[in-house]
Amino acid sequence: MSKITHYMNNSPFLGNGERSHPVFNPAIGVAEKSVVLSTEDDVNKIVAAAKAAWPIWSKTTVLRRVRVLDKFKSILWDRADQLAKIISSEHGKTYDDAFGEVIRGIEVVEFAVGAPTYMKGEFSENIGNGVDSHMIRQSLGVCAGITPFNFPCMVPMWMFPIALATGNTFVLKPSEIAPSASLLMAEWLAEAGLPAGVFNVVQGDKITVDDLLNHPDIKAISFVGSTPVAQYIYNTGIQNGKRVQALGGAKNHMVIMPDADLEMVISSLMGAAYGSAGERCMAISVAVPVTDVIADSLVERLIPKIKALKIGPPTNQESDMGPLVTEHHRNKVHGYIDSAKKDGAKIVVDGRLFNQKIEGYEKGFYTGGTLIDHVTPDMRAYKDEIFGPVLSIIRRNSYQEAIDLIHGHKYANGTAIFTRDGDTGRNFSQDIEVGMVGINVPIPVPMAFHSFGGWKSSIWGDHHMHGMEGVRFYTRIKTTTTRWPTGIREDSQFSMPTM
Ligand code: NAD
Repeated sequence: MSKITHYMNNSPFLGNGERSHPVFNPAIGVAEKSVVLSTEDDVNKIVAAAKAAWPIWSKTTVLRRVRVLDKFKSILWDRADQLAKIISSEHGKTYDDAFGEVIRGIEVVEFAVGAPTYMKGEFSENIGNGVDSHMIRQSLGVCAGITPFNFPCMVPMWMFPIALATGNTFVLKPSEIAPSASLLMAEWLAEAGLPAGVFNVVQGDKITVDDLLNHPDIKAISFVGSTPVAQYIYNTGIQNGKRVQALGGAKNHMVIMPDADLEMVISSLMGAAYGSAGERCMAISVAVPVTDVIADSLVERLIPKIKALKIGPPTNQESDMGPLVTEHHRNKVHGYIDSAKKDGAKIVVDGRLFNQKIEGYEKGFYTGGTLIDHVTPDMRAYKDEIFGPVLSIIRRNSYQEAIDLIHGHKYANGTAIFTRDGDTGRNFSQDIEVGMVGINVPIPVPMAFHSFGGWKSSIWGDHHMHGMEGVRFYTRIKTTTTRWPTGIREDSQFSMPTM
């Protein structure tokens, strides 16, 4: 069984830990690899390597820094296939989906190489008599990224390309469920010419995260994962004096107005609810048809589509949906369907009944698409994030009732409205208290040059990811006020200087 290691100073690093975590291939339900889990000593060594690399890297000219990233970008384009295969084998998402994730990651690298422009400072001359003032952005030092299982490549790339371009060094702690992509990216950064110690990987679980949170040399932490962990990381990180951005879970609603193009709604909803087996923080998990007429028509048209979903190995080009990531997660998803039924909702299509046996894949963690109608806001299946191929329908009678429903939920990551009416679309975009909004767009994931992030319990911290928000997070501003001796002599001034 192959062992996945840490990565330090441009080389694999085994560390001295005795603990490890099995890495499953969810398509066949077998642990094919294991990943080492760090000790405190491993974390100390890896952070020390990143700290040692920072003084030179932060002073390396920005053009040289982005040339390394530019080379890395070319390698990624050439070998996206390799990365997609490894992601698919540990996560279970289809190959095309994994390939798309790699491309979305590359887009952040494309943004990051613009650092010579976005790192430019500001200058004001003559703010006083013979006095000038300028502002520059400087890096923070060693930054850490802690990432979830569901985007082993894209989410780390929301973080490290901008951190590196702005002059920081980085320690990535990927999910122990899907850790291999991190090592490929580390090797390719080294191949692109990144100096030793600038990008490192530490493998681990909560123990590793706590060691990072408590390490005095980590200046900033970027986290993406579930909300309870995001909240814990934010609270502990800021108590320890670190800058923290922590993105959490989601429950994304799609409002379907009576004037919506229902064909467009159905095709959008199928991909948004069941793509990647619903294991996306931007998946639509709640459809909110406005009026019963629309709801009935929606349900009737969704049923055959959900029953026709092709569920199978992610390597099969025909598959719409692969397995869930672990057996434990599949049980959790099924538990939510059980609870919705107990709470009085109607299970219209029941994914738990999926029993298509695929030769060689009988032990894979497959489940079918589920549709639940007549869900109400008090149900656990609505309040919690399920993170599986389960779409709930909550019927509402008006636009305002739909808005109130969304505002009543603790999560506010993404949302969408489908309508043909410009006023309704515009009002929704202005009024809704959610971080990312789609108007006739089901999964409104911002491009790399904009920023990604939700509101309310979907984020802890002030900065969204990538785009200029990423630059702000990974830099601190320094303002220098300058006067040169030009013969002007002044008496000592004891009151507040004014110009
Ligand atoms: P998770 O919270 O279980 O794990 C995320 C990371 O935290 C992993 O690296 C893990 O090792 C670590 N971790 C887990 N438990 C911990 C603990 N108790 N203390 C410290 N560290 C801990 O999340 P996951 O299951 O890997 O990913 C799915 C979750 O991520 C979903 O809730 C999803 O919505 C969320 N997510 C959010 C976004 C976003 O942008 N908001 C994007 C992707 C995923």
